[in-house]
Amino acid sequence: MDFVSTRGGMQPASFGEILIEGLAPDGGLTVPVDLPRIALWDIEAWRGLSYSELAAQVIMKFWTDIDPGDLEEITYNAYRNSFNSPEVVPVTELTSGFGLVGLSEGPTLAFKDMAMQFLGEAIPYVLKQTNSRLNIVGATSGDTGSAAEYAFRSKPNVSVIMLSPKGRMSDFQRAQMYSLDDDNIHNIVIDGVFDDCQNLMKQLNADLDFKKQVALGAVNSVNLGRVVAQSVYYFWAWLRITDKMTEQKRAQTKVSFAVPSGNFGNVLSGLVAKQMGVPINKLVVATNENNVLHEFFSTGVYRPRSAADTHITSSPSMDISKASNVERLIYDVLGRDPEKLLAAFKELDETGVIDLSHEVSRFKDEFGIYSATSTHADRLRTIKEVFENTGVIIDPHTADGVNAALAHRDDDEIMYVLETAKPQKFAETVIEAVGKPAELTAAMEEMLTKPQKTVDMGVDIDALRDFVLENAV
Ligand SMILES: *Cc1c(COP(=O)(O)O)cnc(C)c1O
Repeated sequence: MDFVSTRGGMQPASFGEILIEGLAPDGGLTVPVDLPRIALWDIEAWRGLSYSELAAQVIMKFWTDIDPGDLEEITYNAYRNSFNSPEVVPVTELTSGFGLVGLSEGPTLAFKDMAMQFLGEAIPYVLKQTNSRLNIVGATSGDTGSAAEYAFRSKPNVSVIMLSPKGRMSDFQRAQMYSLDDDNIHNIVIDGVFDDCQNLMKQLNADLDFKKQVALGAVNSVNLGRVVAQSVYYFWAWLRITDKMTEQKRAQTKVSFAVPSGNFGNVLSGLVAKQMGVPINKLVVATNENNVLHEFFSTGVYRPRSAADTHITSSPSMDISKASNVERLIYDVLGRDPEKLLAAFKELDETGVIDLSHEVSRFKDEFGIYSATSTHADRLRTIKEVFENTGVIIDPHTADGVNAALAHRDDDEIMYVLETAKPQKFAETVIEAVGKPAELTAAMEEMLTKPQKTVDMGVDIDALRDFVLENAV
């Protein structure tokens, strides 16, 4: 299986090659030349597999040139010890036909672990085969940086250098990242805001000689390896939801998912699973006040926002100004034609929008994509209602998902919400909603009291460059 760029300017490459790339060299996103299709009876044959066995089967459809035994070992190690649930992804019914797909059982208690734990095994495997190394420099305001650090801690030939803004993260998020003491994990606390961190990272990456010299890389949300690894839990969730049904019932039942969304990575993985053959009815894109995606799916106009127009909300991991992965969907909508895609992104550069309003009905009809937006008040009410009705405390991101699910669920439809974080990570909002925090586990208590290890730095590109040179593997 070969991979190319949405913008047409990349030589076909293998899965192993694109795993350690962010953007394609022409600035586009990598996509498979043909999406693998799987017949329903083949998906049925996977019903008895464990999560890691299923992951190997699905990922193998993309990573076609790896030894199958090696891939099974990679997924086994990725999903073995570091998840809090023996099922890896628990699928839990809350009320009849309505439930949660638990994506936050990993070490950082948020859904980024689902893909990052896979990369944490797959990337060192590729580096070893090609006798190379990788220094991952990133900027984070929360979940992504933490997931990358836990995935790559103590892995050979890799280091992670993560920039985070001083005083902008919750105590819980800080403790989670800064308590890691592995030699190859470096937390740099920048005396500035998240944008300063991101600009520093961009400056560093703009120096192509330096980038090559120290083997700089990123594992951001447009990485196709992440999208592929995430598609696995849509297979898993559909299988678990339909486990107890007769074959006839299975064929008649509509199963839909609602997905708390920011960069459109999670829901894109659902679309990949659907296009591969998982019988998914709707994919409901849930947004918060930063509702670029809701605007796009309801009007057909994609209008990224400025930093000044991007709100800080109580579901902060969804606070995005643009939704980078949407380029892959637009590529599909435009018939997988790189010329048309380039024209669309030229339009975006010149006018600030991509206008697909003449195609808007296709989002629902052809792709099954619906959308909704919520406010802080909606999230508080939703957390409270779910707690009162079921005794379960959900986090504010999952609350966005529940809110969107209820807006689009038909009577005869089974609807599951992807739970993307644990409520303990967002205690302030949970207390506001239900008057008390979600209880901490012993492991969480211990993490909060561990010593923290960080390096302080100003917004200083020279200091950062020196640090990277000194600490790169
Ligand atoms: C990253 C994240 C999201 C958004 O996922 P995308 O793939 O960017 O759409 C939602 N919720 C949580 C908790 C996250 O960490």
